[in-house]
Amino acid sequence: MTDNKGYSPFLQPVEGATSYEDKVVDAAFRDLLKCYVESNHRKKVEIIEKAFKFAKEAHKGARRRSGEPYILHPIAVARIVVEELGLGSTSICAALLHDVIEDTAYTREDIEIAFGKRIADIVEGVTKISGGIFGDKASVQAESFRKLLLSMSTDIRVILVKMADRLHNMRTLGSLRPEKQFKIAGETLYVYAPLAHRLGLSKIKYELEDLAFKYEHPQKYREIIEKINETEEHREAIVEKFVTPIRRMLDEAGFKYEIKARVKSAYSIYKKMENKKIPFEEIYDVYAVRVIFENDDDSLEKLRCWQIYTFFTEGHKLHPERLRDWVSVPKANGYRALHLTAMGPEGKWIEVQIRSRKMDEIAELGYAAHWKYKDGVNEDETELDTWMNTIKDILAHPEPNALDFLDTIKLNLFSTEIYVFTPKGDLLTLPKGATVLDMAFAIHSQLGLHCMAGKISHKLVPLSHELQSGDQVELITSNSRIPTPEWMDFCHTAKAKTRIRTFLKKANNVEILTPEEMERIATPESSQEEKRSLVKRLLRNPFSSKKKKGEKKSPKIDRGKVFRLYPDDKEPNYHIETCCSPLPGDEVLGFVNEDEEVVLHKVECPIAMRLKSVYGSRLVMTEWGGSSSRFMASVELDGIDRRGILEEIVDLVSHKFDINIRSMNISTSQEVFHCEMSFFTDTAERVDNLCESLLHLKGIKFAHRKG
Ligand code: MN
Repeated sequence: MTDNKGYSPFLQPVEGATSYEDKVVDAAFRDLLKCYVESNHRKKVEIIEKAFKFAKEAHKGARRRSGEPYILHPIAVARIVVEELGLGSTSICAALLHDVIEDTAYTREDIEIAFGKRIADIVEGVTKISGGIFGDKASVQAESFRKLLLSMSTDIRVILVKMADRLHNMRTLGSLRPEKQFKIAGETLYVYAPLAHRLGLSKIKYELEDLAFKYEHPQKYREIIEKINETEEHREAIVEKFVTPIRRMLDEAGFKYEIKARVKSAYSIYKKMENKKIPFEEIYDVYAVRVIFENDDDSLEKLRCWQIYTFFTEGHKLHPERLRDWVSVPKANGYRALHLTAMGPEGKWIEVQIRSRKMDEIAELGYAAHWKYKDGVNEDETELDTWMNTIKDILAHPEPNALDFLDTIKLNLFSTEIYVFTPKGDLLTLPKGATVLDMAFAIHSQLGLHCMAGKISHKLVPLSHELQSGDQVELITSNSRIPTPEWMDFCHTAKAKTRIRTFLKKANNVEILTPEEMERIATPESSQEEKRSLVKRLLRNPFSSKKKKGEKKSPKIDRGKVFRLYPDDKEPNYHIETCCSPLPGDEVLGFVNEDEEVVLHKVECPIAMRLKSVYGSRLVMTEWGGSSSRFMASVELDGIDRRGILEEIVDLVSHKFDINIRSMNISTSQEVFHCEMSFFTDTAERVDNLCESLLHLKGIKFAHRKG
C-alpha cells in the first residue's frame, strides 16, 4: 500500500525537470503511474503521460492556496481514482484534466482534439458539477436534482472523478480560509458523503464524514477522538476476551480469517450522541468486530457466513432484534454481510459483521473491488456499464428502502439557501425560510400577485408554507386573487414584500391601519381624539377605490334614505370590509366614506360599533337587493389530523360546493390541526351548509364561519 500524501523523492526526475518543484511534481506523477501499473488494468501509460503533460502545461504557474504547484492536485485526484476507486486510464486522464476547462484557457474542444470525445465528456461533466448544484454558482438552471444527477451520470465516471476531487480537497482543507472550510465541509456532509454511501464507497464515505466533522466541529471532534484513544486499551481487552473462543472455533473449522476490532467513526459516534442525547460512554456499539474470511468457493460463501454465525450463538447471548442478513438480500448499493449483536464481557453489546474477503472489499471500495477479481480488464467493459445502469435505475425509480435520494442528499448546501423546483424541473435558489408566496414572486410578479396556494407532492399548502430544499412546487393561481395586508406576513424575501407593499399602496392609496391600530379603535379605553384620527385615516379611503386622481366623485349619497345594495351587479355599489367580511343577507351597517362610497361592516363587528359611536353622521341604512353575486367568506376548522384530510376538505369545498378557495392556512400541532380558508361564495346560508358538510368529514370537530 502506498501513502496518500507522500511523493517518493528517490524516483528519478523526468527529463527537463529542473527546479525542486519540478522534481516533486514528477515524483508525484511517477507514483501515480506506479499505482496504475500495479493495478489490473490494461497498461495504457502513453495517454496518461500525455494527459499529465497537457494538464501541467495548462496549469503552468498556478498554485493552490497552500502554495504548492496546482498540478499536484490533479495528480493526487488521479491517484485516488486509480488507487481508491479502482478506475483505469480513461478516468485517470479525466482526473488529470478535471480542472483544465474551469481554471485554464483551454476548452472542451482542445481536450476532445487531444484525447477524444469520451475523456472530454467526463472532464466537461466534472466541470458542470463544479459549477452546478454542487458548486459555487448554485443557482444553475437544471431539471430536477434527480434528473440532474441522471444527466451527469450518463457516464458514472463523472461522479467518481468528482468524488475523488472532493476527497482530495477535503484532505487538504486545512489550507483554506475558515469560512471556505465551513462551506466545503457542509457540502461534503450533505452531498458527497451520502452519495459515496449510495455508490457503495463506504471507506470514502467515512473519511469524508470525519473530515467534514473535524472542520465543522473541531472541538467536539477532538473530544471524541480523545475518548476513542483513551478507551482503546480497555476496548481491546473486552474485544479480545470476546473473540478468543470464536478464534478457536474458526481454527477448528479450518477457516482462514482475520478479525478486526472496529471502532465506529468519530462522526457516527457524534451523530448517535446527538440523536439519542446520550453521552459517549453509553454508545454500546462503539464495540464492533468484523470477521473476514477467505473464501475460495463462491457457492459456499453464504453457507460459511451462517456457519460463523453459529459460532457466536455458542456461549453468547444474541440481541434478538439486531440480526441483519445482507448476504441473502444485498443492500441497494451492493453491500453484503451478516450482522449480529452479541452480549460481550462486562455486559457490553458487541456488533459483529461477518464477511467474506470479497464482500469486505466491495463494502470498503465499492466498484473498485470488482477489479480485484478480474485480470487485464479495461474500463469500457460491460461490468462498468452494468454497475452504472444499476445506479441509474435506482436514481430513476427511487424506492423508500433503496435510494431515497432526495431525503438523503440534502440540498441545503449552504445554511442560508434552499433549492426548489418548478413542476417543469427548473431550479430556483431562495433564501432559507422562503415561502410559497416568495417562490411565486421569484418567478414573476404577476404570479405572486395572483397566487392562491402551492402544491407540494400532491399536497395543498398555504402561501405562508415554508419551503424545504428539494421541494417541487406547483403554484395555484387565480385572477381574482389579490394581495391583502396579511400577505406581508406570508413572505420572507425583500422582493415579495416590496411588490406586495407597492400593490397595496396603489390599491388603497392610504396607509393601512396596523392590527394594533385596529385594536385601538375597537377598545373603549382609547381616547376619543385618538379614535377620531385613526378613523379619519380609515375613512379617507379604506378600500381599493379604483378612482384615480381627478376622477369625479360619486354622486352624494342621501344619508336619510335606505341605501339598496346590489351584490349582483358587475361592480357592486358598495365595498365590504375585510375585518368582518359581510355576505349578502348578513345584517350590515353602511358607512359613507370620503369618496361617497358605501362601506359595509357586519352589525356585530367591533370596529363598526366604534365607527358608529364616533361617526354616526356617516351611517346609512342599507337593504340587500339581490343575492347571487359572489363574496368573500372565511371558515375556520379544527380537527384531528390524518393523512388525506386536506384533500378531502379541498375536494368538498371546490368540487361538491364548487367554491373557489382564495387562501388556505393550515397549522398543525401534533395530531391537532387548525385550518382557515377564505373563498368567494354567494350567501351566508351556503357557508352554513358548507360548515355542516365539513363537520361530517371524519376527524373534523369544529367548523364555523369566521367573523
Ligand atoms: Mn479540482
